[in-house]
Amino acid sequence: MKLLILGGSGEAAGLARALDGDARYDVTLSLAGRTTEPTQLPGRLRRGGFGGAEGLARLLAEESYDLVIDATHPFAVRMKLHAIEAARASGVPLLAIRRPPWTPRDGDQWTMVESVDAAAAALGETPRRVFLTTGRMELAPFKEASQHFYIVRSVEAPAREHLPPRFELITARGPFHFADERALLQAREIDVLVTKNSGGEGAAAKLDAARALSIPVIMVGRPDLPDAPFVETIADAVAWLERTHGSTSSA
Ligand code: NAP
Repeated sequence: MKLLILGGSGEAAGLARALDGDARYDVTLSLAGRTTEPTQLPGRLRRGGFGGAEGLARLLAEESYDLVIDATHPFAVRMKLHAIEAARASGVPLLAIRRPPWTPRDGDQWTMVESVDAAAAALGETPRRVFLTTGRMELAPFKEASQHFYIVRSVEAPAREHLPPRFELITARGPFHFADERALLQAREIDVLVTKNSGGEGAAAKLDAARALSIPVIMVGRPDLPDAPFVETIADAVAWLERTHGSTSSA
């Protein structure tokens, strides 16, 4: 079975690893190419855009894929929409992996907002020390809210011109752990955490640490997405493959 996994998330890497060495699956993992040094990944990799939904539909048909798996980051909306459109146009089935969002627990002080622009506005006028983990591509609104001091954490360093005037940069890749996150929030005297609702375990410890220290969180909500067949975890994706195709392709 020929699979194209649209990647850029832990689930994509995890699924590629789970299927690696299984002769029933011929897997290609596609990355946007945003990160110059992605984590060690097994199997065949391709990098860079397809040229929109049409380009992806063409590739799916011309290279005779049996299934496209959208395992992109929860906020990679354009790619998700293109995957749905390309699957429809090419007739190649689509399965999405949609990681559940984080939900507030007792003791959380979350302000829910719909965009990073709204998150910057929600910081208010009074200068604050902000732990900013929205990713290096979406810093522009915080550059404008220059009264705040930002501790910016991202996998790779943002371009200097994208950073706010007063900042400390931490480059790090998860998973992150509770004790480290709590120590970071305390040592940097953080007043507020700003994050996108990516969900998942690897980045959740900062929320536990914020709760433990009574630090408020500005949470950028998930974008709305059209319906598509989906599972929530790597294990469910593997089970879905076994159920739907594994037995026929091995016959
Ligand atoms: P996007 O806006 O949905 O994608 C933009 C374009 O990038 C797509 O139209 C496509 O180009 C190309 N692309 C995206 N994912 C691809 C993949 N797996 N394989 C090949 N091409 C791909 O997504 P984004 O710009 O990557 O990210 C948007 C949001 O997601 C941001 O908030 C970002 O922080 C977050 N995010 C993304 C990633 C990631 O690896 N993509 C990882 C972490 C966080 P064509 O139209 O030319 O096909």
